[in-house]
Amino acid sequence: MTSETSKTVPNTQQEWLSRGKQVFMNTYASYPIVIKQGKGARVEDVNGKSYLDFVSGIAVNSLGHRDSGYVAAITEQLNQFSHCSNLYLHQPGIKLAEALIRNGEFDRAFFCNSGTEAIEAAIKLSRKYAKKHKGDSCTTILTMSNSFHGRTYGALSATAQTKYHQGYHPLVPDFQTVTFNDIDSVKSINPDSVAAVIIEPIQGEGGIHVVDQNFLEQLREYCTSKNIVLIFDEIQCGVGRTGDFFAHQHFGVVPDLIALAKGLGGGFPIGALLAREQFAAAFEPGDHGSTFGGNALACAAALECVTRIESPAFLESVKKRSERLRRSLAKLQSEGHGIVAIRGLGLMVGVELDVPGKPIIQSCIDQGMLIVGAGDKVLRLLPPLTVSDDEIDQAVEILSKVLANRSVQAAKP
Ligand code: PLP
Repeated sequence: MTSETSKTVPNTQQEWLSRGKQVFMNTYASYPIVIKQGKGARVEDVNGKSYLDFVSGIAVNSLGHRDSGYVAAITEQLNQFSHCSNLYLHQPGIKLAEALIRNGEFDRAFFCNSGTEAIEAAIKLSRKYAKKHKGDSCTTILTMSNSFHGRTYGALSATAQTKYHQGYHPLVPDFQTVTFNDIDSVKSINPDSVAAVIIEPIQGEGGIHVVDQNFLEQLREYCTSKNIVLIFDEIQCGVGRTGDFFAHQHFGVVPDLIALAKGLGGGFPIGALLAREQFAAAFEPGDHGSTFGGNALACAAALECVTRIESPAFLESVKKRSERLRRSLAKLQSEGHGIVAIRGLGLMVGVELDVPGKPIIQSCIDQGMLIVGAGDKVLRLLPPLTVSDDEIDQAVEILSKVLANRSVQAAKP
C-alpha cells in the first residue's frame, strides 16, 4: 500500500490545509487557499472557487497560467532531455543568453535558479572585479534604504530592511546602507572602499517606489568615475513588467550588472546575471557555479517567455494595459476610495491606502481576486503581462467595492 492510500485522502480545502500545516516549516503566512489549476489570469482552488490572479506568483507568471506556447516549449524540451549539468552546453541555454543579450547592452550571462542566487553572483563578481582593479581592501557594497534583494546570506546582507535580518546575525560584512534617491549619501562613503552599488530601479517589497531619474543618472556617472560596479536588481521589475524589456530602459541608464529572475521563467525557476564584458571578465572557470543553474528545461521555459515578451507589440500591449489600469485607479482615487498614492511602472503597480492593506487583501480574496501587499498600507497589483482589458476592469471593480467598505474591513482583526 502506498503512503497516499494508507492515509485518509483529503478532498476538501480544509483537509488539505490541515495536512499542509502538519508538514511545512512555519516560514510563510500563507492564505488558506490550495490552488489546483490556472488558465490565463485566473486560478482555481481545490474547492472550485475561481480567482482573478493579480499576483501572478509575485510577478512570475508573465505569460499567465497554462499558456499553450509555454506548455509546448517545456514539453518539447522535456521530450529531448531536461538536465545535463554545466559540464556541457545546450541549445536552449545558448539561445536564451543570446536573446537576453540582444535586448540590452550586456555581453555575457550566468544562469542560476532564483533571484537571491542572481544577487549572490552579482556580489561575488563585483568583489572579484574590485579586488583586481581597486585592491584587496575594496570590498564595501552600498545598498539602498528600504531595499530587498533576497534571503540567502549575501542577498540578505544587501537587503537594507532590517526586519529581514532579525535572528540571523552576524551577516556578511562590508554592506553599508545609503539613502535611496540621495546622491550625497552615496558620495559620503569613501569611494576607494566601495566595490559596488546595488539598487532596484523600482523597489518592490519596499512598497513600489520608482527611483528618481536624476538620481539614477548621477549614480551612473559617479560609479563610472570611481570605477564602482553598478548593479541593478531587476528581479521583480525586469523582463517586460514595466512595458520596456528591462526596467532601466525607461530611464535610459545602463548598469554594469543586472540581476533577473521571477518573470524570466514564467513559472519555471530560473535566475540570471548579465554583465558587460569588462566586468564579466572577472570570473574564471571554477569561480562560481550551480548544478541546476540554467538547466535545459528552465532555459526552454525562459526562452519562450523572452522571445514572446521582447516583441514590440507585446511590450506595447503591456504599456496600454498599464495605462488602462492606472486610469481606472486614478478615477477611484478621485472618487475618494482612501487611495493615498498610485505608484509604479507598467504592470507593477502599488496602491498606497489610508488603512492597513491586510484586511483589504482578505476582502479581495473573498470577492475572488488575488492581490499581494508590500509593507503595511500598500497593495501590489502584478497581473500576468497577458492580462486582458476585461480582466483589468473586473479587478478594478472588485477593488472599488472592497475599498468602498474599507472602514468596515479596517475594523476587522
Ligand atoms: N530582489 C528583488 C527585487 C525581489 O523582489 C526578490 C523577491 O521578491 C528577490 C530579489 C529575491 O528573489 P527570490 O525570491 O527568487 O530569491
